Amino acid sequence: MLRANKRRIVSTLNKYRQHKIYDLTQVGFVSPPTDTGISHPKCYAKILNSCCTEISEEHAISKNVLDKIGSFDASGIPWLRHLPGQINSDYMASKCLCRIHNSHLSPLDSLLGDVFDFLDKIQFRKNEIVAVWGPTFERCLLKILLGLIGTKKMSDSSGAIGIDAIHESWIRVLYGQADLPDNVGLFSAQIAGRKYDAGLKMATLLLNGKIAGLRATVGHLNLHFSMFDKATSFKTDHEGYSQILLHPREFIFQNQNSKLLLFWPDS
Ligand SMILES: [Zn+2]
Repeated sequence: MLRANKRRIVSTLNKYRQHKIYDLTQVGFVSPPTDTGISHPKCYAKILNSCCTEISEEHAISKNVLDKIGSFDASGIPWLRHLPGQINSDYMASKCLCRIHNSHLSPLDSLLGDVFDFLDKIQFRKNEIVAVWGPTFERCLLKILLGLIGTKKMSDSSGAIGIDAIHESWIRVLYGQADLPDNVGLFSAQIAGRKYDAGLKMATLLLNGKIAGLRATVGHLNLHFSMFDKATSFKTDHEGYSQILLHPREFIFQNQNSKLLLFWPDS
């Protein structure tokens, strides 16, 4: 991690010294997998040339995470509940990663599991903070997105798509070979003249008929996880609305004195 990022982490955590802090800022970093010279045709990370010969028996989104998401009720943060179709373990059963590339991402699964766990029980916590590094959380969302594409659970204007629709640059970000460019990732959008329903929804973000990412509404907050340029993808998706896209410095999910804090490097 860059020194500037470390400074941001230290200074942010210092702001919350009066809380009990669960520091998850280092969880989920993965170094790129070692080259094996193997490229498994059914693995969506095959371009990395670091596959093994076995397709993973694990789910594209880990069962651990799916089970936690499934346990949320309407007052929690069920990010995935409103994706097209029911998300459960069976739904995600089809395999799209080799064993090496699946197990390489397990730190992201465990981070996402911890985040959902905390939010699920946030009302019972007292003066506690979970601190999560935003760029790593974005990689968790990217893993969900690629899992949904890789298992053909998402459709674009031409119908269901599979691993061939996954951009090479997305795979390199997911596996730690590149950072997300500045103009893509997780954003909040404030929309003038439209009131969102309370509650939570998640759906596919399409750009010119192609899958660009995920979008979610959490209460009045409209979140975009876009792998295409933020302004372009948002305008196309919400034609007719005046909008402002804000790159987050932090998102805080709060219940009384307990918070889930997602934060990013200083720009
Ligand atoms: Zn592989």
